[in-house]
Amino acid sequence: MSTASIHTEPRAGGRVALLTLDNAPVNSLSAAIRQGLHDALTSALADPGVQAIVLTGAGALFCGGAEIREFNTPASVREPTLRDIVRQCEQAGKPIVAAMHGTVLGGGLELALGCHYRVAQADTSLGLPEVKLGILPGGGGTQRLPRAIGVERALSMIVTGDPIGAGTAMQWGLIDVVFDGQLVERAVVYALEQIGHPLQTRVLGARRAQAPADAAVYARARSEGARLYRGCVAPDACVDCIEQAVRSDIDAGLVYERQRFVELVNGEQSKAQRHLFFAERKAQRPPAQRRANASFQIVGVVGAGTMGGGIAMSLANAGITVILVEREQAALDRGWALIQRNYAATVAKGRLTEQERDARLARIRCSLNLADLAETELVIEAAFEDMAVKLELFRALDQVCKPETVLASNTSRLDINQLAQATGRPGLVLGTHFFSPANVMRLVEVVRGAATTDEVIASVFELARRMKKLPVLVGVCDGFVGNRMVSPYTREAHFLLEEGASPSQVDGALQRFGFAMGPLRMADMAGLDISWAARKRLAPTRPAHQRYSRVADTLCERGRFGQKTGAGFYRYEKDSRSPLPDPEVGLLIEQCAREDGITRRNISDAEIIERTVYALVNEGARILEEGIAARASDIDVIYAHGYGFPIHRGGPMFYADQMGLANVLNTIERFHRQHGELWTPAPLLQRLVREGRSFGDA
Ligand code: NAD
Repeated sequence: MSTASIHTEPRAGGRVALLTLDNAPVNSLSAAIRQGLHDALTSALADPGVQAIVLTGAGALFCGGAEIREFNTPASVREPTLRDIVRQCEQAGKPIVAAMHGTVLGGGLELALGCHYRVAQADTSLGLPEVKLGILPGGGGTQRLPRAIGVERALSMIVTGDPIGAGTAMQWGLIDVVFDGQLVERAVVYALEQIGHPLQTRVLGARRAQAPADAAVYARARSEGARLYRGCVAPDACVDCIEQAVRSDIDAGLVYERQRFVELVNGEQSKAQRHLFFAERKAQRPPAQRRANASFQIVGVVGAGTMGGGIAMSLANAGITVILVEREQAALDRGWALIQRNYAATVAKGRLTEQERDARLARIRCSLNLADLAETELVIEAAFEDMAVKLELFRALDQVCKPETVLASNTSRLDINQLAQATGRPGLVLGTHFFSPANVMRLVEVVRGAATTDEVIASVFELARRMKKLPVLVGVCDGFVGNRMVSPYTREAHFLLEEGASPSQVDGALQRFGFAMGPLRMADMAGLDISWAARKRLAPTRPAHQRYSRVADTLCERGRFGQKTGAGFYRYEKDSRSPLPDPEVGLLIEQCAREDGITRRNISDAEIIERTVYALVNEGARILEEGIAARASDIDVIYAHGYGFPIHRGGPMFYADQMGLANVLNTIERFHRQHGELWTPAPLLQRLVREGRSFGDA
């Protein structure tokens, strides 16, 4: 017998009913599959020949959890709910065994927690990642997991949202047996063995959750949640629910969990976080249908500086052989030492074995000779941000590399088309803009040049996937998506200084808004000389009549390059990275304002946020209209992953949609009247408002 998405098969001569969740791609618990599962369970429980039930998943995994697309729709609450099914399992008079493989996430794990026994294949990973979507496990997970593995471990799984492996799950008592193959067959035998044993002790909901020996675990979990999910309300709600699990019986705990779940799922934060979740998945599928035609195994990296070293590590981590080329021995030694230090730190934290570190280091071969790149399939150039240096390198690479080798530049802003034209293979040239530190940050802007072929883009996306990076396709313009948008954002931050705000006020307002770091602290950290060089390069193209803040240039002229010189927008004590207000900077700002005829006034936090964030939005709209980004959601992904935009606000374009584009445009028009042409509203924004549309459906 089979139902919509559940297959029921008799096993062991009909004594065991094998129920298989089948809802590709991740066996999510949609309304249809819940109904099917409920019906299949009801039939199996009513069938006098069936003595035990095994529940498993079709394809590569047990169950990826709830159907996220059903959230906030009537389907998500249609009965039977997951809670109903879990209760049905707990009340069953026959043993139910969850037989798990692949991934078991969210509602999938909550379903398994309702079963009497849990067995898993050795490669299974299990987790409750709801917090990453701004919600909490609402199918009883916050109540049953502490009953299964104890409060402290449940806190760590639910508040981080990170999965654990089957080995750990077995140690912690979350699963009963690990099999190294033939999962279903062995689960059936296991189920047969359980027939006749008392079931009540196996019902997690019937147990009490033990209070932790040290009540400080709750506070620790709250600070870990705040660190991982800055500004998000979900981690605290998860901790509240687990505290409740200890205080009350299962029924009262489930009522409380439900109430907190509903609050979160209807809240703005979780909508924003779910938007980003889907945005990331969309971004990783570039718009047109393309097929990778190369699977890069040997990759060259030119330049062993800040970026080259990190890129080399990310490649080596993915099992790829790297040839790292420098122009001088001293720079190579410095770069290699840094790579070793980074790996040593990971080993010290217990996240990498010494053996694996050695294997990764062995994959990176160092050289001072560009000719050693002859055998590579892809070269990523990460030399100085200087067009002349890069042009010379691309000409040389075109000579030494095989004709089919793909050439990529890690440039932050420069013209990829110009680099492509310097070679005899413009179709094989593109940008791969990694973010710093490149061995940690997942985002990569994949910059498509005018001639870059579809296959090259697809091959680089495939490489990024192997490197566990998050590639987003962008087009060529100064600064691509991310850095281009940073320019008007920073410009407004500097104008606000001249108009009356202090650096700590600008940074404080944006940090309270949810940014990881305000723009001035960020600039001090990155080095003020870097953006100074870019401004000098662009100075000839800047219209003379446009307002221009001289604050940052003046700081640089005084040798204040930020943290590295102990002074920038702030001052820094020796060996400290804590920004301290500096009266000298205040005087310098006042002087710049005076020279530009600006009357200083009180600036509100609200104005700081509107001026800077709407500058991002207006530029984002232009970028979208020019086709530099394919989707507004791609811009959101870039901002959330590359620039510390608060995830609970979903990225600048989603934020603008939430504020209402008509309101955003109104404010931008007001700024246009007050501050002039730099605030000219983007035509796309005007059109969307006229048509009553949003970036989400542009
Ligand atoms: P860096 O100065 O730390 O390193 C550049 C390295 O390239 C130096 O070690 C230098 O010796 C080497 N080099 C220069 N010319 C060379 C040549 N002809 N052959 C071989 N090696 C050569 O610079 P970085 O910060 O690593 O930046 C590298 C590139 O990445 C730049 O284009 C930069 O704009 C871009 N980028 C930097 C960041 C960042 O945060 N630092 C972020 C994204 C992109």
